[in-house]
Amino acid sequence: MYNPKSLKAEEFICHEEVLETLDYADKNKENVALIDEIIEKAKLRKGLSHREASVLLACEIPEKIEEIYALAEQIKKDFYGNRIVMFAPLYLSNYCVNGCVYCPYHLKNKHIARKKLTQEEIRNEVIALQDMGHKRLAIEAGEDPVNNPIEYILESIKTIYSIKHKNGAIRRVNVNIAATTVENYRKLKEAGIGTYILFQETYHKESYEKLHPTGPKHDYAYHTEAMDRAMEGGIDDVGLGVLYGLELYRYEFAALLMHAEHLEAVHGVGPHTISMPRIKHADDIDPTAFDNSISDEIFAKLCALVRISVPYTGMIISTRESQEVREKVIRLGVSQISGASRTSVGGYCEEERPHDTEQFDVSDQRTLDEVVCWLMESGYIPSFCTACYREGRTGDRFMSLCKAGQIQNCCHPNALMTLKEFLMDYASPKTREIGEKLIEQELMNVPKEKVREVCKENLKNIENGQRDFRF
Ligand code: SF4
Ligand code: SF4
Repeated sequence: MYNPKSLKAEEFICHEEVLETLDYADKNKENVALIDEIIEKAKLRKGLSHREASVLLACEIPEKIEEIYALAEQIKKDFYGNRIVMFAPLYLSNYCVNGCVYCPYHLKNKHIARKKLTQEEIRNEVIALQDMGHKRLAIEAGEDPVNNPIEYILESIKTIYSIKHKNGAIRRVNVNIAATTVENYRKLKEAGIGTYILFQETYHKESYEKLHPTGPKHDYAYHTEAMDRAMEGGIDDVGLGVLYGLELYRYEFAALLMHAEHLEAVHGVGPHTISMPRIKHADDIDPTAFDNSISDEIFAKLCALVRISVPYTGMIISTRESQEVREKVIRLGVSQISGASRTSVGGYCEEERPHDTEQFDVSDQRTLDEVVCWLMESGYIPSFCTACYREGRTGDRFMSLCKAGQIQNCCHPNALMTLKEFLMDYASPKTREIGEKLIEQELMNVPKEKVREVCKENLKNIENGQRDFRF
C-alpha cells in the first residue's frame, strides 16, 4: 500500500507505514550498531530515510544524542555557513470558513474582530515593513472564497511588489494560503511568488479530521495532495510544516519526511523549506488543551534531526519561539527566522502591538534592529537575500547549486551585500558599527577571489547610494 510515487495522500503518507516505522524505531532505539551506522550515513550529507531518522528520534542514549547535535551543527555550518535569512509575515485577512480547533480564526469564533486589508492598507503595512528593513514577506490569509478569493490574493501580491518606498522594496513574496486548484497555483506562479507554504498541521488522518471538523480544510486528501497540485501548476519551491503539539511528534516527524521523499520521488525535488511551528496560546485557544505538546528539548532534537535528514531543505522558525529557544535551534540547523512579527491583520501600522486579531501570541517581541544586532553579536550574519528566486534559481536549479557546493559563493556575498543595505538604510548606530566590522571580517570567507572582489566593489557602490546587487 505504501508508495512514495503515488499521487494519493493515503499511499504516500501511508498510516501503516508510519506505524511500522515507529515500531521499528522503538525496537532499535538501543541498537547502538544500527544507530552508529545511521549517523555515519548522515555524515555523507545526503540525508536519511524516514525510518533511519525515526530510529535516531527514538534513541535516548545521551552520547548518541550529543553526536547527532554535533553533526547537525556541522551540517548547518557546511551548508548554510553562519547566515540567517530574515523574513516577516504579513496577515492580509482573518476571514475564514474553516473550523480548525487550534486557530482563533476559526469560523465559530464570533468575538474575534474580522478584518481584511484594502489595497491602500496593504500599501501602508508594506511601507511600515520596508521602513524596518524587510525584503522578504510571507503573506497569510484565512480560507474564504467570498472575502479572500484568489483575485484578492493576486491583487495584493501585485500591490506589495509595486511599492518602492525610499530605498525599500519587497523582493520576494512567499504565500501561505489554503490548498487550492492547479489553475490557482498557476496564477500564483505567474504573479511571481517565491515559496508556496502550506502546513499540513497533522499527517494523522483521523486526528486531522477531528481537528478540522468543518469547512473545505476537512478534506484530508485534498489538503495533503496540495503540494503536488502546486508543483503541477509550476511552483517549484514548496514549504512543508506540521503544527507540533496536535499529534504525537514521532508520528508527525516520520510522515513529514515521507512527504519530502514523495516530492523528491514524483517531482525530482524535495521541499524548499520546512517550518517548525509549535502550538501557542491565542485568543480562545489554550495550548494546554492539546496533550501532545513537546518540550524545548524534544523541539531541539527535532530541529537537529530535520537538519541531518534533509540537509538541502531550509528550516524556518517564527517569533512563536522565545529568544532562548531560537538561540539553541539556530545553532542546530534553522536557516530562516522571522523578526519583529505582528501576527494580526494590519498590525504593522499600529504604534503598540495590537492583540484583537492576533493568530498567536508572539514570544520574541524584539524589533528587527534588535534581532539583527543580537544575531551578529551571537556570531551570525543576518541576510536579507532574495537572489535565487529573482535569478530563476528555483526548484531543481536551486538544488543543483546547493549540491555542487556553490552556495557559499552566492549566499555569503549576497548576505553581506543585503546586510550592508540594512545597515545603511535602517540600522541604529550600535547595530551599524557591529555590522560594518562583521562585513569586513566575513568578506575573507567568500571562497572565490573574483567573487570577493566584485562583492567589495558592490559594497562600495551601496555606500554610494546604489542598491540591489546580487550573485
Ligand atoms: S488555521 Fe488557517 S484555515 Fe484554519 S482557521 Fe486558522 S486561518 Fe482558517
Ligand atoms: S543566494 Fe539563494 S539560497 Fe542563498 S540566501 Fe540568497 S536566496 Fe537563499
